[in-house]
Amino acid sequence: MEMIPLEQITPGTQTTSVAKPGVLIDTKALETLAEPLGKSAKMRIRQIRQWILQRGILDFDRMTDLPAGFRAELTEKMVPLSSRIANRQVSSDETEKLLLRMADGKEIECVLMREENRRTACISTQVGCGMGCVFCASGMFGVSRNLQAGEILEQLVHVRTRLKPDERLSHIVVMGMGEPMANLQNLMAALEVACHPDGFGLSARHITISTVGLPERIRELADAGKKYHLAVSLHAPEENLRTHLMPTNAKTGIRNILEAADYFFDTTGRQVTFEYILLAGLNDGPMQAEQLGSLLSHRKSHVNLIPFNPVSGLEFRRPLPDSVREFRDILDNFGVSSTVRKRKGADISAACGQLRREALVENATQPLEQVSN
Ligand code: SF4
Repeated sequence: MEMIPLEQITPGTQTTSVAKPGVLIDTKALETLAEPLGKSAKMRIRQIRQWILQRGILDFDRMTDLPAGFRAELTEKMVPLSSRIANRQVSSDETEKLLLRMADGKEIECVLMREENRRTACISTQVGCGMGCVFCASGMFGVSRNLQAGEILEQLVHVRTRLKPDERLSHIVVMGMGEPMANLQNLMAALEVACHPDGFGLSARHITISTVGLPERIRELADAGKKYHLAVSLHAPEENLRTHLMPTNAKTGIRNILEAADYFFDTTGRQVTFEYILLAGLNDGPMQAEQLGSLLSHRKSHVNLIPFNPVSGLEFRRPLPDSVREFRDILDNFGVSSTVRKRKGADISAACGQLRREALVENATQPLEQVSN
C-alpha cells in the first residue's frame, strides 16, 4: 500500500485558499464575476468549464483563451476546485482511492478503478450516510450533509487528474459514500454535466446509480427519462434479515422495492442489477440463495454477488469460496444470472467509507498538524 502525502500530489491545486468559492460549485459567483464581459460572459463561463472538465486544467492562468484581466480576477476571487485531495492510496491493481477535503473541512471518498479498457470513477453523494447498514464503514458516523452538484462533479475532476495520458474516464458508478437517492436532485444535475459534450461526454448507459432501495425515488429516477443503470442493494431475501442488516428496510420492505425496480425496468427498458453482499454465516447459505432465486426468477434482472471486504471495527467475515460457488449455482438453478464481483483495491482501504473512517479515527487520536494538510 502506498500512502502519498498531499504535498506530493495534484500540484497547482493545493495552494489556493479554500475560502474562495469554486467555479463548479458557486455558479452565481461565477456569473456575477463574468457579468461585466457582457455578451461574451456565457461563452467565457463555458470555456472555463471546458478547461476544467475536458482538459483537466486547474489553473486559471493556463486558460489562455480567456481575457488576461478576467483570468486575474478569477485567480483573485475564485478557485478552480474548492475540494482538494487530502490523502491517496494506490492498490497493486492500480485502483486509486482519494480522500477529498471539502471547503468546509468535511471529507468524502472517491475511487478510480482500472479494468481492461474501462476507467471507472466511483463517487459519493453525501458526507457520511444516514442509512445505517451494519456492514458499512460509511454509515458508522451517520450523515453530515448532502453534497452539492458541483462537489459531486469535482470528484470526477480529481479522478481525472489521476488518469495517465492514454487513459479516458469511461464509466461512473454512484456507489461511494451516501445514499444517492437521498440527494437525487443534485446527483442528476451533476450527471447531466458528466454526460454533456462540454463536460465529460459520458454515455448515460455507462453510469450506474446504486441505492439501498427508496421506492418513491426509484420511480422518480425512472420517470426522468434517462438511460442510467440502476443497482439495488438487496443484501437479504427476507424481511427480518434485511431489516437487521439494513435498518431502512423496516420502512420500505422488500416487496415495495422490487415493485419499484419492476417499474424502473418497465419504464426505461433497462435491466436492474441487484447487489448482494455475502456475509459469512449470515446471508450466504443455501436457504438464502433459494429465497433470492425465487424472488428474482420471474424478473429480468442480474445479481452482483459481493464477498464482504473486511472492515476494521466490524465483526463480519468474508465467505469461503465454496459458499460463494454454491450460492451462485443455486441462483443458476432458478434461472437467475449472477456474477461475483472482483475485489478491486484489495490491499488498500477499499471498502466504502473506510479511508474516511481511518482519517476520522486518526483525527480523534492525534494532534491536528499530523493529519491535516
Ligand atoms: S451501504 Fe450504502 S446505503 Fe448503506 S450505509 Fe453504506 S453508504 Fe449508506
